[in-house]
Amino acid sequence: MTSALLPVFQPASMLFEHGEGAWLTTTDGERYLDFGAGIAVNALGYSHPHLVGALEQQNRKLWHLSNVYRIPGRERLAERLTAACFADVAFFANSGAEANECAIKIARRYQDTCGHPERWRIVTFDGAFHGRTLATMAAGGNRKYLDGFGPAVDGFDLCPRKDIEAVRACIGPQTAAIMIEPIQGESGIRPVSHSFLRQLRNLCDELGLLLIFDEIQCGMGRTGYLFAHQEAGTAPDIMSLAKGLGGGFPIGACVSTRHAARGMIPGTHGSTFGGNPLAVAVANAVLDIVLDEALLAEVRRKGDLARAHLDDVAGRFPDLIVEVRGRGLMLGIKTTHTSQEVVDALRTHAKVLTIAAGDNVTRVLPPLIVTDEEIHLFAERLDQTLALLSKRAETQIARQGHY
Ligand SMILES: *Cc1c(COP(=O)(O)O)cnc(C)c1O
Repeated sequence: MTSALLPVFQPASMLFEHGEGAWLTTTDGERYLDFGAGIAVNALGYSHPHLVGALEQQNRKLWHLSNVYRIPGRERLAERLTAACFADVAFFANSGAEANECAIKIARRYQDTCGHPERWRIVTFDGAFHGRTLATMAAGGNRKYLDGFGPAVDGFDLCPRKDIEAVRACIGPQTAAIMIEPIQGESGIRPVSHSFLRQLRNLCDELGLLLIFDEIQCGMGRTGYLFAHQEAGTAPDIMSLAKGLGGGFPIGACVSTRHAARGMIPGTHGSTFGGNPLAVAVANAVLDIVLDEALLAEVRRKGDLARAHLDDVAGRFPDLIVEVRGRGLMLGIKTTHTSQEVVDALRTHAKVLTIAAGDNVTRVLPPLIVTDEEIHLFAERLDQTLALLSKRAETQIARQGHY
C-alpha cells in the first residue's frame, strides 16, 4: 500500500479507535490486550480519568505560552520531580532524544565551566539506545541506525558492557561523562547490575566525571521504583526522562543537580514547545498517581506475579524460551524465534500486543495499572500462542524429515 507518509515505519494493519485501561479497541470493535503500552508511554493505560480530566481542564485555559513567561504548572512539575530524586533542577523538552541532548550539553558545559574545555566526550555502552537525533544516534552507536547518514557525530566512545576495568580503559583525558540506561530497553531488556551502577558512580567521582542515567524507558515507576536507579542505592548527576512522564502526552525532561548544571546560564539551551501548559498539566496528573508509594509497591507485586507466570510458561516451552529477564513491569522474553515472529503471532492469534526488541527479546510492558486478571489472561494467551508456534516448528521438522 502506498502512503503519503515517509515509509520509516511498517505499522500493523488493524485500526485502533479508542482505548481504556490496558485495552485497545479497533474500528471493528475487536479488543486487544495491550502489554506494550506504546513502548512504556501509556504508563497509566488509555483514557485514565485523572489524566483526561487534567488535560480537559487545561485545554480550556491555555495551550501554549512562550518561555518568556512563567508557567506555574511547569515550576510545580520541576519541584515535584526534583523533590523525588537526587536532582535540583529540571528542563522540559518534547521527547526522549531531546532530553538526552540536554543531558549531553549540561555535561560538556560543566567540564568547560570547571576549566576543562578539553573534556567533552561521553562514554556510552554497547547495546545502548538514546534516540534518533544525530547526536543521540551516535551515542547509541548502533550501525543499523547510523549507516548511510554520513559520519556519526563525534564525541561518543562506545564501551563494552562488561566490568568496571573495561570502562576505565575507555576513559581518556577528553572524557566528560558516562551515560547509561540502568535497564537497556531497545536492545532487549538488559538490566545493568546494581553493583555496576555503583561502581560507575565511584569511578565518576574518582575521575571528576559526570554520570548520566537515561531513564526514559525504565523510569516513572516502571520497575516498581519511581526511578530504576533508586533500587540500586546510587544516583547520577543528570537523568533523562520521557515516555511514561506524560502518560501519552509528549513531554521529556532532563533533571540535574545544581552543581552539574552550573554552566547552564540564560541562553545556553532552549525549546519552543518543551513543557507547554498542556504537557505539564498531564505530567503533573501522572505524578499525582505515580508518586504514591502504594502504587509503586503494587507495581513490584504485579511485576513478581507477571514474572512468575512468564517463568512458568518458559518452563513449559524450553525449546522456545531462552530466558525471561527484567525488573518490575519491564520484562523481556528471549526466544529462539525472532521477536518480530513472536510479537506478530501474539497479535494475530491472541489479540495481545507486545513490543519487539533486540536480541530476540519480546518486550512485556503493561500499563502500571494492569490488573491481576489481565496478567493471568496474558500468560494464558502467551501459552496458547507459543503452543501454536511450537506446533508449527514441529510440522516444519516433520516435513523436512520427509524429504
Ligand atoms: C525511547 C527512548 C529514547 C528516545 O526517546 P524519543 O522520545 O523517541 O526521542 C531514548 N532513550 C531510551 C532509553 C528510550 O527508551
